[in-house]
Amino acid sequence: MGKNSESLFRAAQEIIPGGVNSPVRAFRAVGGDPPFISSASGSKIYDVDGNEYIDYVCSWGPMILGHAHPRVVEALKEAVGRGTSYGAPTELEVEMARLVVEAVPSIEMVRMVSSGTEATMSAIRLARGYTQRDEIIKFAGCYHGHADSLLVKAGSGATTFGVPDSPGVPPELAGKTITLPYNNLEAASEFMNTRGEEIACIILEPVAGNMGVVPPVQGFLKGLEELCRKSGTLLIFDEVITGFRMGRGGAQELYGVMPDLTALGKIIGGGLPVGAYGGKKEIMEQISPTGPVYQAGTLSGNPLAMTAGIETLLELKENPPYAALEERAAKLCGEIQAGAAEAGVPTFHTRVGSMFCTFFNESEVSDYDSAKGSNTELFAKYFTSMLNEGINIAPSQFEAGFLSTAHTDRDLEKTVEVSRKSFKQL
Ligand SMILES: *Cc1c(COP(=O)(O)O)cnc(C)c1O
Repeated sequence: MGKNSESLFRAAQEIIPGGVNSPVRAFRAVGGDPPFISSASGSKIYDVDGNEYIDYVCSWGPMILGHAHPRVVEALKEAVGRGTSYGAPTELEVEMARLVVEAVPSIEMVRMVSSGTEATMSAIRLARGYTQRDEIIKFAGCYHGHADSLLVKAGSGATTFGVPDSPGVPPELAGKTITLPYNNLEAASEFMNTRGEEIACIILEPVAGNMGVVPPVQGFLKGLEELCRKSGTLLIFDEVITGFRMGRGGAQELYGVMPDLTALGKIIGGGLPVGAYGGKKEIMEQISPTGPVYQAGTLSGNPLAMTAGIETLLELKENPPYAALEERAAKLCGEIQAGAAEAGVPTFHTRVGSMFCTFFNESEVSDYDSAKGSNTELFAKYFTSMLNEGINIAPSQFEAGFLSTAHTDRDLEKTVEVSRKSFKQL
């Protein structure tokens, strides 16, 4: 770590809690201090000490086209001269909505917001309003942003009412969130068969990306869809990561499952602050002003955010990168896995399309409990070794890696090389 980052981090900690505006950036899970970033381009980010890193964080998912993609940058330059916010409807919002509706199978209508947190929070409010039920189901290890109802962990016992995961969340509210184990259709069936008609919605990441990457087991998503249909419960897919990453239609297209509501974010903002939620027209029309469920936003549909999002979605439509991303990510992950095996480091590798994870774990990872069994100390050493050699992976075992269209063959070769060396040094 360079001295410019060091002194900025020291200054930051005096006036910003922990020195960061989102906790994981503070490197608490891996030790050391974070580099402060001054610019980014393509597959690379650069810190204030002049270090270059090949970036697999990609701003936690949005930068599927790489950083500062010329098409996005040019459009933003033009847009900024036309004003940065109007608080009135624009053609850009219609274009964005069209791009989302045409791509995502279950979305007939969409409402823009400014973050993924807002998207899931609003989708849950809508589900509660529409069904006139209060209780919701989430899965352990799935992250849906930091709204109160979602900052809930499982109580003790297999299927229990939630307890707050953070001070400041009233237990009465957390108690309305039921937490079940991911990838366990049996537990969900058992619960839904007795209590289904009291449940407003089941929300989940169709591919979990916030406990490391955990793909859904065969039949899990379809099974949840059926359970929801039977009891009039809404199925909400949180596709904030997977939307436009698994393909333009997201995980719902990949797995052939139709949720009632979908939360989007990350990629659809092209790196600007954006979220969205959408679904069946009949449900979406319950939102204000057509319906009674209130939701609003001063900067929702912001013209700059719409511009960056639209250009990103158009690029993904006109030059679909998904087959190439799949092939390149498979090769990269295969070689990282081989490097771990060569060095005798027990790992478990997961990947869906261009999102992937190396668990430092001797066993298979299929849910939160098994993910938690990972050796986070070993991960921290690997992380530090990678970062010191110019490879930026997420500073936590429980995050995803992302490949962008900007990563070159040379980037991938260097990454594999450094990864091999890092495994050997553990
Ligand atoms: C990032 C993320 C969110 C929250 O989005 P923010 O824009 O950070 O509020 C919600 N759900 C999932 C699956 C995410 O990965």
